[in-house]
Amino acid sequence: MNDQLNDEPVGCALPRGVLGACVEADPRLFFGTSRASITAAVRVCRERCVVQATCLVHALDAGQRLGVWGGYSEEERRLMVSLRRRRDAEVAAARARERALRARASDAPPPPRLPRHLTSGL
Ligand code: SF4
Repeated sequence: MNDQLNDEPVGCALPRGVLGACVEADPRLFFGTSRASITAAVRVCRERCVVQATCLVHALDAGQRLGVWGGYSEEERRLMVSLRRRRDAEVAAARARERALRARASDAPPPPRLPRHLTSGL
């Protein structure tokens, strides 16, 4: 995405000299609020941009909240971030449960030994 203020490519992780398809588009398209403008901007990203994935990662990492970046609208990126946070929280909770279960298992007394006459045929 081009910086909306000075029309220079944003200093994201794009290789030098590689520009997104939005360089040649009207920046207002990428910051429009109508459904039509969002759809049109998303199409530019998804159908014509060779740095879509890099742009999307940059937008998510940098917390870009406004506009279409990497082929996704503000709303879609917000959902991605919130699902990611939820996933991280669920994984953290599962790890805590796992640690608790392991600690409990290591504190448990060893299983009782069977009398010799019951194990001699084994
Ligand atoms: S993915 Fe979209 S916003 Fe990003 S550089 Fe390409 S055209 Fe611009």
